[in-house]
Amino acid sequence: MTDMIPPVADTAAHSFNELPLPPGIQATLQQLEYLTMTPIQAASLPIALAGHDLIAQAKTGSGKTAAFALTLLTKLNPRRFAVQAMVLCPTRELADQVTQEIRRLARFADNIKVIALCGGTTMRPQMASLEHGAHIVVGTPGRIMDHLERGSLNLEALNTLVLDEADRMLDMGFYDDIAYVAKRCPAQRQTLLFSATYPEGIARLARQFLRNPQEVKLLEQHEASKIRQRFYEVKHEERLQAVGLLLKHYRPVSTLAFCNTKQQCRDLLEVLHAQGVHALTLNGDMEQRERDQVLIQFANRSCSVLVATDVAARGLDIAQLEAVINVDVTPDPEIHIHRIGRTGRADEEGWALSLCSASDKRRVAAIAQMMGSEPEWHALSELENDNDEPLVPPMVTLQILGGRKEKIRPGDVLGALTGEAGFTREQVGKITVTDQSTYVAVARDIAREAVRKLSAGKVKGKAVKVRALED
Ligand code: ADP
Ligand code: MG
Repeated sequence: MTDMIPPVADTAAHSFNELPLPPGIQATLQQLEYLTMTPIQAASLPIALAGHDLIAQAKTGSGKTAAFALTLLTKLNPRRFAVQAMVLCPTRELADQVTQEIRRLARFADNIKVIALCGGTTMRPQMASLEHGAHIVVGTPGRIMDHLERGSLNLEALNTLVLDEADRMLDMGFYDDIAYVAKRCPAQRQTLLFSATYPEGIARLARQFLRNPQEVKLLEQHEASKIRQRFYEVKHEERLQAVGLLLKHYRPVSTLAFCNTKQQCRDLLEVLHAQGVHALTLNGDMEQRERDQVLIQFANRSCSVLVATDVAARGLDIAQLEAVINVDVTPDPEIHIHRIGRTGRADEEGWALSLCSASDKRRVAAIAQMMGSEPEWHALSELENDNDEPLVPPMVTLQILGGRKEKIRPGDVLGALTGEAGFTREQVGKITVTDQSTYVAVARDIAREAVRKLSAGKVKGKAVKVRALED
C-alpha cells in the first residue's frame, strides 16, 4: 500500500534552495535562519511539495511543523479569501504553537490570515474571524466540528488537510471527530499525517483518509555524546525517594520525570513536595488554564521538576532540559528512546537517569539492544548526599492579570520592569502573554520586590494586579 522510504542515511546538510519554494518563502527562511533542512524536512518536503499524500513519523522537536507549513503555504492563493488549508492538533497549546510557526513562515506575504479554532474559549469571536475570511485554520477536532455543525466554517476551497500529532489525537479519543471533519473536506485534496509514534490506529486513519500515501519514517538517532545515560538499581519501595536523591546529586535546573501511570505521578509529586522540591504535574483532568500555567512555569525555569506520563508530555517543545528521569522504566524501548531524546538538545548536554528494580531488568535489556549500547549501571549509594542546600529554581513566575485582550505585549512588561522599577534585563526571564494574563519570570531574589513595584506602577499606562505563582 505504501512506499517505504529508508531513513536518509546521508547526514549531509540539505539547503532549502533545493526545493521548489517561491522566492518569498526562501527569503523568509533565510531571515528565520533556517539554513538547512532538518532530516524529516529533507525526507518529506520533496514528496509533499510534489502533491503526494504523506505519513511522516519523527520525534518531537524535529521540525515537522515547517514540513507541512511550507507545503500548504506554497499552494496557497492569498487573493482567494477562503479556507484553503486546515491543521488538526490534539490540544490548544499545540494548536497555538503551530499557528505561530505558520504565521512566522507566512511573513513573506502580509495578507495571509491564519486563525486558531480551539475549545476553552467562546465561539463568537472565532465565528467573527471566520466571517472576515481566513486562509488557514488550525484547531482541535472538537471545536472544528462545532464550527462545521453551525455552518460557520466552509471547507469548499480546502486543498490541504494536515493531521498533526495524529498518535496523540488518537490517544485522546479523537478518532470519530477526525473522521467527521475529514469526511466534510473535499475529496480532491492533499492529506498529510504527522506523528511521533506509529500505533495501530494510525494505519486505520491512513487507510480511511489518505490516498496512496508515501511514508517517511526517521528512526531516532540521538547524538550519544550529548545524552549521558545511567541506570540506577533500586528496590521497588525506594523508587520515589530515589528521585529526590538523583535531584540532590545532579542538581539539574529543569527535569522531566516520567511515570508510567497517573497514580505514580500523584505519589511522586507528594514525595517531592514533602522534600521541598518545586515540582508540578500535568494531567488530562486539568483545565486549560492550569495546564498553561504549569507549562509556562516549567519552560521559564521557575519549576524544577515536571512530573508526567508519556501521554501528558507528548508534543511539548521544551528547549532546555538538563535531565530526564525515568521514574518507571517503560516496557516499550521506542518510548524510552523518545523520552530521553528530550534532553541533550541543541548544544547542551543532558542526563538520562532511569530507576530500575529487579523486575525491570528485561526492559532495560530490550532498550540496550535497540540502542546498541551496554547499559551503564550505578548504585544509589554512590550518590552524594551531603549537600543540604535545597534545589531551588532560579526564577519565579509572576502573573499579571491582563493579557492579549488588554493588548499587553512582552515589551510593555519588560519596559515596566527595566524602566521605572529599575531592574536589569538579566533579572527578567521569559515573558508569555495569554488571552487573559501575562506571565513573566524574574530572578528569585527580586521576585518580592518586583511584585511590589509592578503593583505600585503601571503597565501600558494602567495599574495592574500582580502575584507570584508560589508562596
Ligand atoms: P516537531 O513538530 O517535530 O515536534 P517543531 O516543528 O515544533 O517540531 O520544531 C522544533 C523547533 O525547531 C521549532 O522551534 C522550529 O522553529 C525549529 N526549526 C524547524 N525547522 C528548522 C530548520 N530547518 N532550521 C532551524 N530551526 C528549525
Ligand atoms: Mg509538532
